[in-house]
Amino acid sequence: MEDNIEIEISETNRGNEQIIINKKHKFNISFQRKDKSKIYRCTEYKTLNKCKSLIILNDKKEVLKYESLHNHLEKEIDVSISVAKHKIKEEIKKNSIPMDIKPKHIFNAVSQEMGLICPEYSTIRSQIIRNINKQFPPNIKSFDDIPIESEYYKTKRNENFMIFKNTDLIIFQSPFQAYLFSNYHKNIFADGTFYTAPKFSYQLFITRIYVGEFNMFYTSSISILKNKKQSTYETLFKEIKKIQINLGVIH
Ligand SMILES: [Zn+2]
Repeated sequence: MEDNIEIEISETNRGNEQIIINKKHKFNISFQRKDKSKIYRCTEYKTLNKCKSLIILNDKKEVLKYESLHNHLEKEIDVSISVAKHKIKEEIKKNSIPMDIKPKHIFNAVSQEMGLICPEYSTIRSQIIRNINKQFPPNIKSFDDIPIESEYYKTKRNENFMIFKNTDLIIFQSPFQAYLFSNYHKNIFADGTFYTAPKFSYQLFITRIYVGEFNMFYTSSISILKNKKQSTYETLFKEIKKIQINLGVIH
């Protein structure tokens, strides 16, 4: 049949068979014919692309037919993630794992186990950790460590967007967010989350405004709160309002 088609067998997240072609495209099984050959469709078939590519393999995984009609970008990263996951699952299947592993085990303990039975996992994990370490300055361990000045408080346009900090609270708002806030403060929405708040803080708090012209919500400020004292919230709103007074909006 066609030359230079490289086939790899992988699996979907649900464990169904997946065919990788030339490390660029993923194909999921569509159906099996009476002669045991199987038809696979490009995974972009089910997206808006409705990619028409398909490949037919016999039961020895030889190519009977390949129609390469991809109408989308190659999915090399997507493919390598899929293959890596498959390899990890395969390695785990090959080895007996003690069944008493408790889900509450911390990440590191589990990672060590995983690293022993699956070398690929170690590579992925060390890559992840290297990137995490690179990304976050490790010198902030408590709320008090948050600096008053930092290169991270500047926007791409070199505007300062850290507008207030005391011992309980730090507020971020870019000049553009202040502009939005001042023009669309008729309805202000606020929400707090604990999930994404830094460990040393109590809550991440955002305000949002609604811009009718675009039928869109925009985030107009982001704050990190050290505690849930009422005075902390009062300071937060007082400071945001102060900016508006400076812009001459709220009187
Ligand atoms: Zn395709």
